[in-house]
Formats: sequence, C-alpha cells, structure tokens
Amino acid sequence: MRYIGSLDQGTTSTRFIIFDEVGAIVSQHQLEHRQILPRAGWVEHDASEIWHATQEVIRVALERANISGADLAAVGITNQRETTLAWDRESGMPLHNAIVWQDTRTQAFLDGLTPQAHNSIRYKTGLTIAPYFSGSKINWLLTNCPEVEQAVKSGRALVGTMDSWIAWKLTGGHNGGLHITDVTNASRTLLMDLETLQWDEELLAIFGIPISILPTIKSSSEIYGHTDAAGPFGAEVALAGILGDQQSAMVGQLCLEPGDSKTTYGTGNFTLQNTGEQIVRSSHGLLTTVCYKFGDQPARYAIEGSVAVTGSAIQWLRDQLGIISHASEVEALAESVSDNGGVYFVPAFSGLFAPHWRSDARGAIVGLTRAATKAHLARAALEAICYQTRDVLDAMAQETGLQLTQMRVDGGITANSLCMQLQANIMGIDIIRPVISETTALGAAYAAGLAVGYWSGTDELRGQWQIAKRWQAEPDHPLRGAGYQNWQKALTRTLDWV
Ligand code: ADP
Repeated sequence: MRYIGSLDQGTTSTRFIIFDEVGAIVSQHQLEHRQILPRAGWVEHDASEIWHATQEVIRVALERANISGADLAAVGITNQRETTLAWDRESGMPLHNAIVWQDTRTQAFLDGLTPQAHNSIRYKTGLTIAPYFSGSKINWLLTNCPEVEQAVKSGRALVGTMDSWIAWKLTGGHNGGLHITDVTNASRTLLMDLETLQWDEELLAIFGIPISILPTIKSSSEIYGHTDAAGPFGAEVALAGILGDQQSAMVGQLCLEPGDSKTTYGTGNFTLQNTGEQIVRSSHGLLTTVCYKFGDQPARYAIEGSVAVTGSAIQWLRDQLGIISHASEVEALAESVSDNGGVYFVPAFSGLFAPHWRSDARGAIVGLTRAATKAHLARAALEAICYQTRDVLDAMAQETGLQLTQMRVDGGITANSLCMQLQANIMGIDIIRPVISETTALGAAYAAGLAVGYWSGTDELRGQWQIAKRWQAEPDHPLRGAGYQNWQKALTRTLDWV
C-alpha cells in the first residue's frame, strides 16, 4: 500500500502529514518556528530554521508510520501565502530572513506608487494594494539588503514564496533544485496577471523586479520533478502538488464547483468561494484569486474575503477581560443565557477587513443594560464571529449572483457547536464540517495524488467525502432578520467613531 505526503508550511509551524487512499491520516509530525519581530510592524521567519523543521517533520512522520520515502506515491506542499524570501542558488543559504505576510514595512513604498500603477495592479492581479502581498516585500529585499543586491548582480539570487523555497530544497537545492511556484501562490504576489497566469512585465517594472530571479509558474497539480534521494525522503518521490494554504483548504474541502464555498475559522476568518473559470472582479472589497489549476485544465478562480478578528475576540475575553480561562469555555458561558440580552459586540480592534476595509474603525460594545452579564457578552462575541462572516458572504453573493445553500467549515472555532448553530441561523443555510478537519494539508495531498494517478479523479475524491456534522438553519430565525439589522447598526457605531 502506498501513501501520499503533504507538507504544510504554516505561519507558526511546519507539519508533515501522511494520508492513505481514503484520505485518512496515517501519521504526522509538527514543529513550531520562531516569530522574529525586529521592530514594530516587522515580522520575519528564519528560512533555514523552517528548512530544518521541514526535514525533521518528514523524517519523524515517516518513522511513526513505519514506512520509508519510497512508500510515498507523491508529495504535495501547502504553505503560508505571501511570505517571501531570497536565497543564494550556489550556497543554498537564505540571503535575509523571510518577510512574513503580516509585515507592514513596505506601506510607504506602496503609498508612493502612482494612481495609474495602483489601477494596473488592481485590475491585473485582482488584489488590493497592500504590504501583505509579496511584490513590495521583494522590492524591499532588492533595495535594502546589500547581500541580495550583490547576489542579483552576480546571477546567484533566487526569490520566491515558502513553497518555492521548500520545493527547491527538496528537489536538490544547490545541486539542481527546481525553482518553481504554483498559480495560487503566484496570484498573491501582485506580479502575476490573473488572465495570462504569467509574470507581467508592467507589474515587474513597477516593483523593480528582474524576472530572472523569480520561479517558473506551474499548475497546482502536475509532476514538477522528484525529491533528491539525499534529502529527508531518502528516495526520489514525485513532487506533484503545490497550493497556498487557503486554496489548499478549498481543494481539501472539495469546493470544486462554482458557488462552493468554505470558511476557515481561526484567529481570523478566511472565506473563499469558487467562481469556476470566471474571473470575478470585486467592487465590494473582496479579493480575486486563483483557486487552483489541475494540470492542463483551465484555472479555476475564487473570490476571497477575510475577517481580521474572530477567534482572537475569544482570546480577548480570556486574556484582557478574564471572563473565561480557556477559549473552549466560551460555549458553556454563552449557552447559559438564551440570547444576547440586546448586547452587540463589534471586535474591530485593528480596523475592519472585508468587505469594509476601514483600518481606522475601532471596536464597540453597544446595547448594554443593568441586566447585561458576561454571559451576554460571550454570546455577543460568538454572534459577532457569525455576523462578520455573513457580511463577507453577502458581499460575495452580490458579486457573483450565486446564492449559497450550504457552507463548509474548518478551523479551531468549529469545535464550538453553539457558534456553528448561530452561524447556520444567521445565514439561513446549513453549515457542514467534514470528518477530516486537516483540510489544508489534505488539499495539497489531493493535488499531488491526482497528478500521479493515485486517485482516479475528483469523482473518486467526492466519493470519500464524509460529513462529520451538519448544523441546520432553523427557518426564519430572528437572528437572521432583526438580529442582523441590529448588528449592522452596531457596526455603524464603530465606523462613526473615527
Ligand atoms: P489559527 O490556525 O489561526 O492559529 P486555530 O484554527 O487553531 O487558529 O483556532 C484558534 C482560534 O480559535 C483561537 O483564536 C481561539 O480563541 C479560538 N477558539 C478555539 N477554541 C474555541 C472554541 N471552542 N470556541 C470559540 N473559539 C475558539
């Protein structure tokens, strides 16, 4: 029996998961890495540390499964998106710490671009102009690090996102490693045209980036090459899938038809909706992105909306207010009252993301009475997670004209059944959680397995799909009508505040 391996290189940790034919987890290992914070607004990772962790998690997961690299039919990579680094193709070493997606050091550079540049970037890439994406990070590396400048001049510099770094290292590094990325990761750089799926000359010029240092853009599912037998697999295994983390979760959730949508509930929320072969350009504050591209088939696109504060509002109840001591306690506390008692909580701690994009908004708790308790506040916090998610989904429906009938979910908060029931009632649709909650790693495994014929096609994968839990919307629930109206009133208070 052979297996599929999936390397999930995330923001806080790196994991390797081994899946079997039915998509079940055989073994896994995970290692955290340091968050390097040199100054306010700067966030870096040590790419060497991540490479060491990558080798270790692969070795240990193989050991735990009692198999060798040769037992893997293929491996896939999924990764934290946008995080960017430069390395030396001869020494195989990073030339600077990786600049993480959260890093805002390049805001001033972006502010200095012309309105015409902004328009081109927006139209061609489907993204907003933000330091979050890779383009301005690469510009920073090229203009602020003498080592990188020097390496570019002498033709030794390679630049890429985390997928590229890991793929290059796994396929041999300075002994002929492949310098590649996939369309989903490339679609987060501000440098790729969504239509051509290639690096765009005008965009490269705006950011001052020579194309020679960039990886080749590949599909998300094909045999790119093989791992170096001298590396952690100890064998030549087909490297056959690459997807950015949110897109990988879409594939792992089998959101493969137009209209299919998933939300990952973590510290913040990420919602993506498949728009098929259509590029939907947003006028409602959503991002347009590549969802996946399987081999020679046409690319599938998605629109994406993120909510900055969801799980972190629960952390705030725990750490700042001290009304719970563990995140999981919020459910029982909220359940101890039958409704929110008229209390609405808008956790706009650092502004609001989609669909509002107001960095100046600040949080509010409204509707307090003498009878309000911490339980009402806990309930209001859970409702806020769901109302914010509905705001994004409503914006998506306006954009695509597609009305959802159900939504697939994953992430830490989905353990909270009350929250998921509130979500169903607030949106008026069913909420579905799959058996395998590791959807991010599963997506890259699916992409790799499809490429090598380990699975016959997406129909076979659909046959494996199993629902762990479904929360049904109660018809005409008051939270959907009056509750949502009150939420919107509360929301205006946070926008009025500034
Ligand atoms: P991330 O991948 O962003 O680190 P996770 O998927 O691990 O996030 O989810 C962690 C977040 O979920 C934390 O912000 C935590 O406050 C929240 N959380 C965890 N368990 C619960 C729960 N039972 N109810 C509500 N929120 C929860």
